[in-house]
Amino acid sequence: MADPTSNFASKKIIHEILPVGMLQCNCSIIGDPETREALVVDPGDEAGRILELLAKHALTVKAIVSTHAHIDHVGGLRKMQQATGAPVLMHGDDMELYRHLDVQAAWIGMRTPDPASVDKFLREGDTLRWGRFEANVLHTPGHTPGSISLYLASQPQTKFLAEAGKLLAGDTLFAGSIGRTDLWGGSSEQILRSIHQKLLILPDETIVYPGHGAATTIGEERAGNPFLELPRHSQR
Ligand SMILES: [Zn+2]
Ligand SMILES: [Zn+2]
Repeated sequence: MADPTSNFASKKIIHEILPVGMLQCNCSIIGDPETREALVVDPGDEAGRILELLAKHALTVKAIVSTHAHIDHVGGLRKMQQATGAPVLMHGDDMELYRHLDVQAAWIGMRTPDPASVDKFLREGDTLRWGRFEANVLHTPGHTPGSISLYLASQPQTKFLAEAGKLLAGDTLFAGSIGRTDLWGGSSEQILRSIHQKLLILPDETIVYPGHGAATTIGEERAGNPFLELPRHSQR
């Protein structure tokens, strides 16, 4: 992704994507190169590496968000919260999952991470603001009840953001696939409804950053994602 420190003059958005932990969850750091404020999304593990990258870019964290409360997306929240003092945000409908981190840890055979205190619950229509950026919170249940996606619209009026919009899709939409719905609280009908009603309506050129694996675009997924054409056939 764009490298930022060497690119100060062009004021490109800082976006680092760092696969963390055993399940290689894509943690995103999105920073404003002028104000040096950043949003951290899905710090699932390896808080030390995330903090090193933040330090490398001299970024101050304004908020820490998890797209949902599966352990691979929340495991590093406590350490990030302690190290940065930034608020931890997630959707309230995933608190049941978050309260059972021990059960989740047992499923995948890892140590239970210490939980963070969730400072604020996000809801559909909320706007996150940091630096000169903002992201809209889209509630996209189906993979889990409280799954959210974050949409940073392209803003041509600010040269700064005159690039395609970005969607951080968590485990809802993947390149050529969709999130699994066979875990606790999952629903294949809901995930398809979420994707069709809230994600596929975004502009084609929107770059999608899934919770795992490669980036894609809304246009590519609308045209070629086989899981979006077949209702009820939604296992990843
Ligand atoms: Zn998940
Ligand atoms: Zn995941």
